[in-house]
Amino acid sequence: MSLINCPIHGQVGLHPYISKALGHELDIGSRLKVADIHKVRVEIYDDDEQLSTNDYYLLSGEVSADLALIVIRNEKDEENLLKPLMVNFKGGGYCVRCFRSFLSNLSE
Ligand SMILES: [Zn+2]
Repeated sequence: MSLINCPIHGQVGLHPYISKALGHELDIGSRLKVADIHKVRVEIYDDDEQLSTNDYYLLSGEVSADLALIVIRNEKDEENLLKPLMVNFKGGGYCVRCFRSFLSNLSE
């Protein structure tokens, strides 16, 4: 995990799976609601063996509302499914501790 310099927490882990737009909203202190945060789960398989699982956080506007799970089984999936998702994370990422406290303070 890479580190960032958080103004509140100092040298701290970077949560890499937070989109650039969501990070920006957090930076400016938007009053985000649960419905604003979209979580996409990405599962990567090699044959039937699961290689990795991650939850990616975006603003709900960045992806289709019914997109909740992306399963990657081959290069074509990577190209068609994962790449378009990853575009949202260029320049993204956020302080893990700030994000954790943001999640626990989310209003319904
Ligand atoms: Zn922080």
